[in-house]
Amino acid sequence: MLGLYLHIPFCGAICHYCNFNRGLLDDGLKARYVEALATEIRRAADGSAADTIYFGGGTPSLLTPEEVASLIAACRASFAVTPDAEVTLELNPETATPDYLAAIRAAGATRLSIGVQSFDDAELVRLGRVHSAERARQAVRQARAAGFDDLSLDLMMWLPGQSVAGWLANVEALIETRPDHASLYILEIYPNAPLRDEMARGGWSQAPDDDAAEMYLRGLDLLDGAGYEHYEISNVARPGHASRHNVKYWADGEWLAFGCGAHATRGGRRWHNIPGTTEYVSRIAAGRSVVADVRTLSPRTQAEEALFTGIRLCRGVSLADVQARYGIDAWGVYGPALSPFVDAGVVQYTPPVLRLTRQGMLLANEVCAVFV
Ligand code: SF4
Repeated sequence: MLGLYLHIPFCGAICHYCNFNRGLLDDGLKARYVEALATEIRRAADGSAADTIYFGGGTPSLLTPEEVASLIAACRASFAVTPDAEVTLELNPETATPDYLAAIRAAGATRLSIGVQSFDDAELVRLGRVHSAERARQAVRQARAAGFDDLSLDLMMWLPGQSVAGWLANVEALIETRPDHASLYILEIYPNAPLRDEMARGGWSQAPDDDAAEMYLRGLDLLDGAGYEHYEISNVARPGHASRHNVKYWADGEWLAFGCGAHATRGGRRWHNIPGTTEYVSRIAAGRSVVADVRTLSPRTQAEEALFTGIRLCRGVSLADVQARYGIDAWGVYGPALSPFVDAGVVQYTPPVLRLTRQGMLLANEVCAVFV
């Protein structure tokens, strides 16, 4: 079944590390954008079955409950969205209020992905986040009180000035809030990130690489001990709470994507929309296409993508499935390059399943380079 991704490119403030497609909130533009987004969804209508809707950003929780409801209605009018669909909305803690959370739940959101990033106020300030750790905890409590039984929290590791002990304290704080799902991302600092200047001014640096590896492994140990299943390199969940939408990205699924800069994959084709918000709105209003680029993927490319995304899943990727779908004998093609990783305990090959070991997840990029 399809996933439907809706991009909401507005934020109340810009974080110091952020490299996403987003801009500062402009209420007038947001209203026009939401209308354009609903139009793009309706134009793509073909009645296909979909079982997930994902509002990503940016800060989707800057949408009003009415806007959330209108976009979900556009999805339901255009696609056969299953009654039990997972409808996720990314939420920044500072936007949470009891009334807002109750209203978006009533509008049809079933799952929240809360951008906590850290439970240490000094770290949050360094990142340019506008909430405190206590505000994040409050948002979780308010979400539970509003009836959300599927909550995910994002945490970032390897922050400037963060020690292994500091990171583990963050993981413990996360466990104390009892989310159903958590995403643990390693901070990547892109070349022109304002965070680089902040780090130079503050004299902060990132811990050595070995410490980053220790943070990752010991953080996962804590989560294992608390009953979470590690199901993807950066994601853990209580049983039954893996993100149905995000698993489509890793398990060779298909999804449509709406909004500026959104990327879609379906039927052996991959395409993305123009990135500019204003340009997106004016093209939709003029009845023009918003697609910037379309690629038709060869079976070989599709097989490669199935392998390098599938291997991110802890259950691994079935080479028999890849062969059945794309006619590629993956072990015949990539086996010679993968064998040294198998010998080193980075990858396990138990035919037909190829998977990374947990230690091997630290070297996922090197393994994935074999496939591209
Ligand atoms: S809230 Fe998210 S999308 Fe917005 S600036 Fe911060 S990191 Fe970027």
